[in-house]
Amino acid sequence: MIIIMKPQAMPQDVENVVEELLNEGMQVQRNDGVDCTVLGVIGDVARLDPSAFLLRQGVERVMPVSEPFKKANRKFHPENSVIDCCGVPVGEAALCIMAGPCSVESQTQMVGIARAVKHGGASILRGGAYKPRTSPYAFQGLETEGLRLLAEARAATGMPIVTELMSPKLVERFDAQVDVIQVGARNMQNFDLLKELGNTRKPVLLKRGLSATVEEWLMSAEYVMASGNPNVILCERGIRTFETFTRNTLDLSAIPAVKQLSHLPVVVDPSHATGKAWMVETMALAAVAAGADGLMVEVHNDPAHALCDGAQSITPAMFDALAEKVRAIAPILGRALA
Ligand code: PEP
Ligand code: MN
Repeated sequence: MIIIMKPQAMPQDVENVVEELLNEGMQVQRNDGVDCTVLGVIGDVARLDPSAFLLRQGVERVMPVSEPFKKANRKFHPENSVIDCCGVPVGEAALCIMAGPCSVESQTQMVGIARAVKHGGASILRGGAYKPRTSPYAFQGLETEGLRLLAEARAATGMPIVTELMSPKLVERFDAQVDVIQVGARNMQNFDLLKELGNTRKPVLLKRGLSATVEEWLMSAEYVMASGNPNVILCERGIRTFETFTRNTLDLSAIPAVKQLSHLPVVVDPSHATGKAWMVETMALAAVAAGADGLMVEVHNDPAHALCDGAQSITPAMFDALAEKVRAIAPILGRALA
């Protein structure tokens, strides 16, 4: 962090700021220039609030020079992290596809889709048991019964399961019953939930918030990691922009951005990003081309009658076609899809 003092700052103003920094355990490099004094602050500056120093007498500007995330930061962990999802690695050259319906609806639906997506090339099964719906009158998910049906589909196919957790109260239940815990876009900054997830070692699939910057997203990953759980997978799922043609705007540039800033794997959800089934394949391929470590895709056997997100759900046949194309382009990118 660099603190620039005002040209008219009094020597005592500079002394006060230096003393405060030293009391915080920082080292201070002081440069007395012709116009002003510049203080270089060295130490665990993440503990400091830069905006608080702006309020000190004589301070002109405060400039953070390092990112506020540490555990998620590639600078301190240059190699890519590979997250083990119950035997399925995410973050290796092998791409990982998570696929399944938006919500768990029934045993036949779940087991049927699980078998179909596994056959197509998916390695993790998704399905929502607790659904974050905009309307309280919309289908809220099968809840405990949904978790039970997911476990049945896992037993039938051997695929690990990923499902969304909304309440910090259910962390223990999810830890016991689920292989990968999803934090949805709407809860990306539910800090109590993120901290609670630090008490498990379960992989956390952290979706990007609807209006979250890349840095805010990485800070949420930092919450989980700083609380004790290093197993975080990031998921870009589109952000809110002025464009309404698509449900959200898929921020493909977030993939190389996150890859440069962080060692964590990133997967892309083209279903929630576009809201349109016919766009899912194109954006899935674009995501792989942009360097994503995997995909999360909504697949439904009967999209027209899905209880949630039918318009963006692709059929098993469409999923097969998508996976086939991913398989074809993967080698050009030094990757593979089993
Ligand atoms: C989902 O994956 O089912 C979901 C609700 O996604 P998001 O949190 O990205 O909207
Ligand atoms: Mn959905």
